[in-house]
Amino acid sequence: MATDNSTPVSALSELQQTTDFTRRHIGPDADQTAAMLADLGVGSIEELMTQTVPDSIRLDDALAMEDSVSEADALALLRSLADQNTVNRSYIGMGYHNTQVPNVILRNVFENPGWYTAYTPYQPEISQGRLEALLNYQQVVMDLTGMDLANASLLDEATAAAEAMTLCKRSNRKKTDVYFVADDVHPQTIDVIKTRAAYFGFEIVVGNPVTDLENHDVFGVQLQYPSTYGDITDIKTLIDNAKAQKAMVSVAADPLALVLLKSPGELGADVVLGSSQRFGVPMGFGGPHAAFFAASEKLKRSVPGRIIGVSIDANGNQALRMAMQTREQHIRREKATSNICTAQALLANMASFFCVYHGPDGLKTIAERVHRLTAILANGLKAKGVAVNDTYFDTLTLTLPETAAEVYQRALDAGCNLRQIGADKLGIALDETTTPADVADLFDVVLGTGHGLNVADLDAEIVAGAATGITAEMRRNDAILTHPTFNSYHSETDMLRYMKKLENKDYSLVHGMIPLGSCTMKLNATAEMIPVTWPEFSNIHPFAPADQVTGYHKMLSSLEEQLVEITGYDAVSLQPNSGASGEYAGLLAIRKYQASIGEGDRNICLIPSSAHGTNPASAAMADLKIIVTRCDEKGNVDVADLRAKAEQHKDDLSCLMITYPSTHGVYEEDIVEICEIIHKNGGQVYMDGANMNAQVGISKPGVIGSDVSHLNLHKTFAIPHGGGGPGMGPIGVKSHLAPFLASHKVSPVAGLNPENGAVAATPYGSASILPITWMYNKMLGKSGLKRSTQVAILNANYMAEKLSVHYPVLYRGRNNKVAHECIIDIRPLKEASGVTEEDISKRLMDYGFHAPTMSFPVPGTLMIEPTESESKVELDRFIDAMIQIKAEIEKVQSGEWPADNNPLCRAPHTQADIMVDDWSRPYTREEAVFPSRSARENKFWPTNNRIDNVYGDRNFICSCPSIETYMED
Ligand SMILES: *Cc1c(COP(=O)(O)O)cnc(C)c1O
Repeated sequence: MATDNSTPVSALSELQQTTDFTRRHIGPDADQTAAMLADLGVGSIEELMTQTVPDSIRLDDALAMEDSVSEADALALLRSLADQNTVNRSYIGMGYHNTQVPNVILRNVFENPGWYTAYTPYQPEISQGRLEALLNYQQVVMDLTGMDLANASLLDEATAAAEAMTLCKRSNRKKTDVYFVADDVHPQTIDVIKTRAAYFGFEIVVGNPVTDLENHDVFGVQLQYPSTYGDITDIKTLIDNAKAQKAMVSVAADPLALVLLKSPGELGADVVLGSSQRFGVPMGFGGPHAAFFAASEKLKRSVPGRIIGVSIDANGNQALRMAMQTREQHIRREKATSNICTAQALLANMASFFCVYHGPDGLKTIAERVHRLTAILANGLKAKGVAVNDTYFDTLTLTLPETAAEVYQRALDAGCNLRQIGADKLGIALDETTTPADVADLFDVVLGTGHGLNVADLDAEIVAGAATGITAEMRRNDAILTHPTFNSYHSETDMLRYMKKLENKDYSLVHGMIPLGSCTMKLNATAEMIPVTWPEFSNIHPFAPADQVTGYHKMLSSLEEQLVEITGYDAVSLQPNSGASGEYAGLLAIRKYQASIGEGDRNICLIPSSAHGTNPASAAMADLKIIVTRCDEKGNVDVADLRAKAEQHKDDLSCLMITYPSTHGVYEEDIVEICEIIHKNGGQVYMDGANMNAQVGISKPGVIGSDVSHLNLHKTFAIPHGGGGPGMGPIGVKSHLAPFLASHKVSPVAGLNPENGAVAATPYGSASILPITWMYNKMLGKSGLKRSTQVAILNANYMAEKLSVHYPVLYRGRNNKVAHECIIDIRPLKEASGVTEEDISKRLMDYGFHAPTMSFPVPGTLMIEPTESESKVELDRFIDAMIQIKAEIEKVQSGEWPADNNPLCRAPHTQADIMVDDWSRPYTREEAVFPSRSARENKFWPTNNRIDNVYGDRNFICSCPSIETYMED
């Protein structure tokens, strides 16, 4: 072929790298950006910033960080850190175990954007897939625990135990404030329970439940089954003793052990909780994994977190949705006792698929095998005179008064991590991946070579009747996982198709934009996701020895530096597992700081009426008294009201919780003054960082005057939402609060007092997803981060401008501009036509969209946040749909379509709808399901008609539908 010289290029530097990440992360290209700016009548994006962002908070200087790095280079840099981690064979246990993630689940769920980019299933008609998977999770939990109901996950076992404590308190009439925690509960759980108890005013007694319980008058008891040392405690007797004094009992249990053991439900527990990590979710140096939480029927309205329930749709078909959604943070706000919002949906789904794939027989085989290998190890060691526990499932505690240190070191030399318990004991926990060869190695480690033990011989002795660690009395004899779902998909083909069937029911970012205001559904880039499953990040125990995780620590420090620079704070804690737990951790830092300067009595928390429900819920958990301050008609904090209340309470003022830009999507001009008012009256400022996507690179909370913020890494910093979690909510603080950040008893955080107490089970929360944010910051660099914020603001203003012709935009800031999101007011239209914000949300599904945030923060509105990742083409497609919907509303208003029979009130439409023989509606089938060209070209089919929330709450069911309903089908 001849060379084409017609387009000479002047220099290599002008050939932009195709791997330039900023260009890939940001949706609009140069032409689209120019067109949107022109539509807004603004000359440049810098001018838009001048018009939009108050001068008092706008940064003059660029962020002090490097500039963007290509995908390949960033991955190579991270690889060099990962290589500094050592992946030892872990026998540490303590609630974290090696597991074999089935590859079919690894690739098709964990690494699949169809699963990980979905949002919390607020729109159930386009979320039936993950709702079914989560319902399966609840069924697994109910079966294994023997309880009446279960939720769809909590953040981790330790915080689940803390939730159980508060549930016991409010469900119990006893007057005492004493809570008893067995001394053989996992130490990290005790740590978190103590932290949580302090501000609820509970007294924690840690003791031996067999001998000490009767000496205390308690409202509840926390047990561990099997115990942290491996013993299968006789929890029946302990539960009976607790019940005798009318105390409630929460049991933390190991789900794999429960496959063989009598269920705590059968033995009388009120609450059963634990971690489903070992059901096919990697340890990840601490997470993310799903905690489970099950309770008896009478506690159903008090269970924290989200519960998936069965209901029906408008056609009477069975359908799933989140049950009792309006409780907790939404209605109870300051009366709430739990602040759970983001949980661990993706990981709960993985665990439930693990059980679907293995089925009851597969799980039993796994559990029996682990137990058999443990019995072989126990019997061999006992034969050689080593003292180990008599009862066990998979964990042994060896008492080695002379040789513990030596054995521990020999294990390390052999590439194995054991648990150190005091000076003379070692713990060994086996798991699904343990082999007979591993057990042989462990004999060598503990006994030295030449011990003469043989795994096959020991096995033969057990077959012939030698004892194992579970007595006949403690073996469970009821069936588990009898539902057809757990007995149908055991070949890879069947499993693949089942998961794909569910995935296909769910709308995620692979289909189109999810313009949920306050949720920041931006690109979760593949290069950011890839490192999560590198073994050097995923196969590491959270309490692995420090010298095996130097790569992790370098990555974490580097991430902390990035976030310190971006926020303008002095220190960052990476421990909280969600925005809400960040709020809690931040408020604790404030309270402890105030106590340290003799102002521990300050207990008033001001919260503007527009706040997210987690704010008052977190404040209540920190024992703060909430005083709500007003907003003015423009949606801004009413500064006069705020000042008056701050001054009125100046002797007791602890803090203000404020979201910036506000949840109304506006940069309040007075924010600097607001911070000053609070400080002048002795308070601290907590700035909710959920809206950081409107600040990164152009302003900083620390510069504005705030003292502490959480960052939702699953919003602003590219961690995917996972269909309702995981998330991460690290907090940034000014230096005076830094000494009060959460540490960790088992694995203290460098520079902090280990007595600070933990807010999560592990020191760095869900550490294995932190590389996502590290990659995001690295690949965008200082200019890409700033550009992202600018384009997010441009996209929101373009959206507001175009929609405002048809729908009133509720709040605007200076120069009529919005921040990174905008609220459109549906109330006038509703008044005139009867069409509701819900009708519009459901109708958007027919057009191929996920609805915006509905009725938050203002009832009767829609809040739209396009983010920087959506192109002008996608924005226009959404705008066109909204304009067409407006025309449809007008037809209802004019009477052309009846109020109770039109495409809005009957939305969404399904394939079944249009297959009926007698179509007698006043609109056509085409208008129903192909209302626009884009809907026709790229149709996303809702699987259900509108789902009836109230029906499901009145007829509450949170288990898999009965086998009969399958048979009827
Ligand atoms: C999302 C959000 C939160 C809660 O964050 P989670 O990670 O879901 O716990 C708090 N405040 C605001 C304004 C939010 O948008």
